[in-house]
Amino acid sequence: KADTAMYHIKESGRNSFQFFAEEMNQKVNARLTIETGLRRALEKGEMLLHYQPRLEPGTGAVVGMEALVRWNSPDMGLISPADFIPIAEDSGLIVEIGDWVLATACCQALEWHRMGHDSLRVSVNISARQFVGHDFVDRVVRIIEQSGLSPHFVELELTETALTHNVDETVKIMNRLRERGITISIDDFGTGYSSLNYLKRFPVDVLKIDKSFIDDMVKRREDAAIVATIIGIAHHMHMKVVAEGVETAEQMKLLMEGNCEEIQGFYFSRPLPPEEFERYIAGRTVPLLPAAPRE
Ligand code: C2E
Ligand code: MG
Ligand code: MG
Ligand code: MG
Repeated sequence: KADTAMYHIKESGRNSFQFFAEEMNQKVNARLTIETGLRRALEKGEMLLHYQPRLEPGTGAVVGMEALVRWNSPDMGLISPADFIPIAEDSGLIVEIGDWVLATACCQALEWHRMGHDSLRVSVNISARQFVGHDFVDRVVRIIEQSGLSPHFVELELTETALTHNVDETVKIMNRLRERGITISIDDFGTGYSSLNYLKRFPVDVLKIDKSFIDDMVKRREDAAIVATIIGIAHHMHMKVVAEGVETAEQMKLLMEGNCEEIQGFYFSRPLPPEEFERYIAGRTVPLLPAAPRE
């Protein structure tokens, strides 16, 4: 940052430097405000989860949901995870928040099971900072156990960056989780260091194809090819594929033809508060697409 400040001085004199310094100051302040607020957010009950449905394209059935955290700050309103998760990660608060997310999501899933939706699976995002903690597996296992939900209904979404610190250690952790029946997925697949060598070594159950590939797959052959290739590799390795960020019927159709197992995106639903999610699953009985004529 010092370099940029110097550059500003040379470029357009002192005024612009002052301007820049003020802007920096505001950014630092905003960060501090968020961090201070975050420290009390859990105890004050300001965190909440929304749930985005995951559907099976063939049947149109809702097979599960991804839990996505939001922060309802009294000062700043509803804050999206993109704005506070990085700060929670840097400050270490993510460990506590992550525990709360997992506990809350498992309890919610169990409640829905008891209402009759008893095959719903719940997936939860895990930050690198949580994953590399020495007691990660014990924490996860204990939290799931305390919730009363069978671990077979729980999926942990890890990103590629979380996995590549220490490959041997990562493989061990994944195996311990899988022995308990927990499902492991790789989130935002294709955006990190998606080395095929890693993929070969990691005992992963599910690949979630990143939205960026889904966005352009209808328009660009390259993206369609990447998506088809990811699905092919995953299936050869006995992994399932979830497409995320599906927004249109065309994307949906291509993914269905490509035998993608599950779909998640605004085309079906945004992440919903629990009551709305309940209404969504109660009302969903129609097929997704009219039977398309085959050419
Ligand atoms: P993610 O895990 O990749 O979650 C998917 C994000 O894409 C969600 O954003 C979701 O609302 C959005 N999305 C889903 N379908 C569509 C679509 O069709 N179009 C568009 N434009 N967006 C779509 P959200 O909820 O803002 O979360 C952003 C990220 O924050 C998540 O990305 C995840 O990395 C992180 N995050 C959310 N909740 C948690 C959490 O509890 N713990 C941790 N560690 N990270 C979390
Ligand atoms: Mg995710
Ligand atoms: Mg993702
Ligand atoms: Mg993401």
